[in-house]
Amino acid sequence: TDIQELLLSRIRDVADYPEPGVMFKDITPLLADPAAFTALTDALAEIAADTGATKIVGLEARGFILGAPVAVRAGLGFIPVRKAGKLPGATLRQAYDLEYGSAEIEVHAEDLTAGDRVLIVDDVLATGGTAEAAIHLIQRAGAQVSGLAVLMELGFLGARARLAPTLAGAPLEALLQV
Ligand code: IMP
Repeated sequence: TDIQELLLSRIRDVADYPEPGVMFKDITPLLADPAAFTALTDALAEIAADTGATKIVGLEARGFILGAPVAVRAGLGFIPVRKAGKLPGATLRQAYDLEYGSAEIEVHAEDLTAGDRVLIVDDVLATGGTAEAAIHLIQRAGAQVSGLAVLMELGFLGARARLAPTLAGAPLEALLQV
């Protein structure tokens, strides 16, 4: 579609970043273009409405940049899922494996409750490890995941199959596929 072409044209491929052999998808040109950023925000807000979301969760850090305007546009609250050690209140914490080592993410426990339907927003879905941990966090808080919405899915890494059991029928919506 026209919107997909616009979005794709504003994503820059950076070779060998952050390490040799990796093709990094840089979304900063998209953020700098108000027409593209608005189109992206509107498309993600539509997914929030379609999936019956009651809250938007953004994943640190680019999921904050995308998720916050989506929350405002959709008329929903925004909840940050942060790297461990950054949130001041009582948190739930979830560990997950990286290629080398592991990482932990957190959410304020009081931000999610049993009635909530949460749309998770991030920029790029790669291996799915980060999203999988976020889904577990939301489920442990007693809330439901309404869906996972990303700007770009790196399909060759297999995240869609990996996440299917955890998503348990909730949609994975990627505006762009690579
Ligand atoms: P995953 O956990 O392997 O799916 O990695 C996803 C996380 O890493 C997301 O929070 C992304 O922001 C980030 N990420 C991975 N690859 C890229 C990329 O090419 N461009 C921008 N962010 C990326």
